[in-house]
Amino acid sequence: MGTFRLALVSMPWPLANRPSIQLATLKSFLREKAPEVETDCYHPYLQVGNLLGIQAYNNIAERTWMAEAIYGYLLNPKKRVEILDLVRKEHASRTKTSPPDLKTISSQIHRLHQGHHFDLEWSSYDLVGFSICLSQLTSSLYMFRQIRARHPSCRIVVGGSSCAGELGYSLLANLPEIDFVVSGEGELPLLELINRIKKDELEGDESSGLLWRDAQGSIRGGEFNQLPDLNDLPVPEYRDYFDELSRQPRLATLVPSLPLETSRGCWWHRVKTGSVERACKFCNLNLQWRGYRSKEPHQVAREMEELAAQYASLKFFFVDNILDNNKLHELFKCINDAGRDFEIFTELRAPVSRSDLIQMRRTGVTQVQVGIEALSTRLLRKINKGTTAIQNIEIMKHCEELGIQHLSNLMLGFPGSDAEDVAETLHNLRFVMPFQPLRKVRFWLGQNSPVALHPKEYGIRRITNHPHYHSLLPDSLANSLCLMVKTYVGDRTRQKKLWRPVAREIERWQQRYTSLRRQHLQTPLLSYRDGGDFLLIRRRAEGSEMETFRLRGSSRAIYRFCETRRTLEEIRREFPRFSSDKLQTFISHMVGKLLMFQEGRQVLSLAVSEEPHKILCNEKT
Ligand code: SF4
Repeated sequence: MGTFRLALVSMPWPLANRPSIQLATLKSFLREKAPEVETDCYHPYLQVGNLLGIQAYNNIAERTWMAEAIYGYLLNPKKRVEILDLVRKEHASRTKTSPPDLKTISSQIHRLHQGHHFDLEWSSYDLVGFSICLSQLTSSLYMFRQIRARHPSCRIVVGGSSCAGELGYSLLANLPEIDFVVSGEGELPLLELINRIKKDELEGDESSGLLWRDAQGSIRGGEFNQLPDLNDLPVPEYRDYFDELSRQPRLATLVPSLPLETSRGCWWHRVKTGSVERACKFCNLNLQWRGYRSKEPHQVAREMEELAAQYASLKFFFVDNILDNNKLHELFKCINDAGRDFEIFTELRAPVSRSDLIQMRRTGVTQVQVGIEALSTRLLRKINKGTTAIQNIEIMKHCEELGIQHLSNLMLGFPGSDAEDVAETLHNLRFVMPFQPLRKVRFWLGQNSPVALHPKEYGIRRITNHPHYHSLLPDSLANSLCLMVKTYVGDRTRQKKLWRPVAREIERWQQRYTSLRRQHLQTPLLSYRDGGDFLLIRRRAEGSEMETFRLRGSSRAIYRFCETRRTLEEIRREFPRFSSDKLQTFISHMVGKLLMFQEGRQVLSLAVSEEPHKILCNEKT
């Protein structure tokens, strides 16, 4: 065989302004390792985005069940009433606006599929691959069924986060349209599969990261097959996305955000001899990887420069689950040295030092998602997050000060959480009111998360696929596939009731924060101005109301010293004139006024500077 033709497809519903990094990385990897492979990447979500308009598309794409319902409606004519009901309820649980018109949208998409847009010469490819990640199950299923119906000889492989391990095994076991599954990351297994197809020998190494059916129809293979070193990866190739985008007139104003990975996996998530030894108990984000690998900072910076130049884009979206703490400072220093006006989104997890955050902000980090999850240390321990409430509050404060938008969640209803966790959360919420509000997210049970693996420990039982899948998929599939989102029996109603006051408090916080920021022309709600030997702290309230506090001399100095989290011992060392009692009296006074937060022996001042540009320009990092 000479040239090998490979098509890679990413179906709706990724956000339309983001090319698929999965497809782009596979394409560039194969170009380097197997130049005879000609890879075409397809992003049908762009056509769907163009059809619906960007706003309508993103409204659907941002909500998993809503997104899965669109193609579910097409896949399951018998369950349309159920699906309409699901969409109505899902929508009503979040907003009072009217839900998207599922019937019209689905029939428009159906027509798009019937037209020439998606009916390419699929059989001219030696292999067609689907990347199936969040919200792409029903759309991929619909598409590869169509391809198979029209091009029966087409070979189909699926991979992606929704195909790792048991998930992928069950797809292959239940969907005859699929020929192969890549379990885990795709580069090496896909290369292996291409070589096998070229040699016409589908049997091979059982631990190649591939699943296939043997001549008797039994499923073979498995394991993961990972790149030892991510630095071996070439720069992702996004050209196909940009070409497709240029053909979508309704997406002409879209500003693409280039995905970039600096690492794979999570250093906090540790697996030993097949079982999870340490991880956040709710998390199943690492089903696809074993261990943690990260790229060298200078390579990341080089990739960003190359991508920016190639696509005339400065907006980057780091797809990492977690950045490499050991390389954090160096990473942003290298990116900063590139001297570009980048705009970067990244995930973070407390603690991140103030100086690292300053460096990140200087480099162009304008938006982050912080893995906050809880504001109760007691609960954070149960979740095994490895963080504390004061660390979370500290990072929220620094984001507020540096103008970094953070889109972070507070999880409600973690199984086994109790009234004390709720009380601690409510208490601590009073201190974070001046900062960007968190979003409330109900606990959901993910396939193979530590909670799902040890249900008894959390008082839950009878874990099955989430009931929504029974509406979205034919019954035979909903019962037999192993799917990402689960439901369970036990500790649900109690949790819902328990966390209701927190849910209400968060809503109040969201409304109050938005309204006060507007009234006060986006000035921080709790801020200070430093007069050298005195400090003016201001707390903004309704209308033009403002509370002012003046701290003089040592009080000012202690308050500024606690700009980052300090222990009582550190404060004592810095201010030896103060006895422990006197120091604690001052801190308690400040805590009583919600100007400082104290947790055990750690203390944090809460007011942020009204002159953040001085911090960004002057402070050494
Ligand atoms: S939630 Fe984040 S930090 Fe926790 S285990 Fe998952 S990826 Fe790692």
